[in-house]
Amino acid sequence: MEHYNVDQKIQDFIAKIEAKNPNEPEFLQAVKEVAVTVIPFIASRPQYNGMKLLERMSEPERTIIFRVPWVDDQGEIHVNRGFRIQMNSAIGPYKGGIRFHPTVNLSVLKFLAFEQTFKNSLTTLPMGGGKGGSDFDPQGKSDMEIMRFCQAFMTEMCKHIGPETDVPAGDIGVGAREIGYLFGQYKKIRNEFTGVLTGKGLAYGGSLIRPEATGYGVVYFAEQMLKTIDQDFNGKTVTVSGFGNVAWGVIKKVEELGGTCVTISGPDGYIYDKDGITGDKIDYLLELRASGNNRAEDYVKKFPGAEFHAGKRPWEVKCDVAIPAATQNELDLEDAKILVENGVVCVTEAANMPSTLEAINHFLEHKVLFSPGKASNAGGVATSGLEMTQNSIRLNWSSEEVDTRLKEIMIGIHKACRDYGKEEDGYVNYVKGANIAGFVKVAEAMLAQGVV
Ligand code: GLU
Repeated sequence: MEHYNVDQKIQDFIAKIEAKNPNEPEFLQAVKEVAVTVIPFIASRPQYNGMKLLERMSEPERTIIFRVPWVDDQGEIHVNRGFRIQMNSAIGPYKGGIRFHPTVNLSVLKFLAFEQTFKNSLTTLPMGGGKGGSDFDPQGKSDMEIMRFCQAFMTEMCKHIGPETDVPAGDIGVGAREIGYLFGQYKKIRNEFTGVLTGKGLAYGGSLIRPEATGYGVVYFAEQMLKTIDQDFNGKTVTVSGFGNVAWGVIKKVEELGGTCVTISGPDGYIYDKDGITGDKIDYLLELRASGNNRAEDYVKKFPGAEFHAGKRPWEVKCDVAIPAATQNELDLEDAKILVENGVVCVTEAANMPSTLEAINHFLEHKVLFSPGKASNAGGVATSGLEMTQNSIRLNWSSEEVDTRLKEIMIGIHKACRDYGKEEDGYVNYVKGANIAGFVKVAEAMLAQGVV
């Protein structure tokens, strides 16, 4: 048999993806991270060879780009761009959030949809991968402007989604309020009350624990990581970035497990609260987020014992566990070096792709426990999957029931990552483990369904 060089295969694959998707750095970053771990695996499995599985997974099944015109409170007309990337439906209807943020573009949403495919597969629930959003900036908009924008967005998107086709949810800039407006418009146009969106309010088909789920899931996952080195959260100092829904859930659960979170951050800088973000301070995070200011600095006005570090990231604060929970590429090689020097033992990603490839490699080289968002933040979408189940059976589960299932799912994902990611010296490479475990289920479904 001809001896082929796997490194060459990886390089050829990446060159093709680069040529086909110019000007899409985030998408290329996400695909590269997967390619270096999955291509050697494919090469070792004759049944996958030559089936162009990763090539197929890297091309969205469908990309929808649309105009979103809306009128502000002063009567001025605005035009935003709307997107829905329907990435892969091999294992279930497309599933993934909607992001409203000025940085949204095709590259960002393709990276998110690509990661979502692997993430959803890891949950073991029947959900394909998708992602959508708009370059609309919710900051400073009135409630009525948000409503009109959501209605305008859904007026087009409702033609492409449905409970058996594509089920969007929230992401950055899209929370319970936006999901409510999106749902209302879908119901009005389609004349259907269905589980077409997740993250809904409890009064109209939402699931208990969904708001907390991403953050809780991250901490359940980190708990399993720590367990591999016979440690737990008790007494640990934890640094967290962001101050959105995910950071809030993380901080709540860490406190419950005996650890202390000492930072949050916003686009303006980070907060260091040496006494810990505990008790009332955790509830205040919800207020801070709802204020719509997007400024972490407001925290020190309320809690003067804390420090605000303008324009900086929280990774310079000494910690045992670091949990990036803000956005993509918020932790680079320099940050990774500081964290390692300061003795971090575990980095658990809560955002999607918060670490650069160079930062990830630094953690892996130094054998720090490191898990990629697609594994450790999968609790959010997993609980969306549980919301879909509850909608289908027309029943609501208790908090305990949802939380128990969420925890089981996170433990299962951790085990899958461990099974595929354990190296000879016992170190678990969670990046490799997550990519391969996520790939296998999608690959098997695609093989069974033929070249479609
Ligand atoms: N936006 C979340 C994520 O990145 C949740 C998606 C969902 O619930 O569909 O996974």
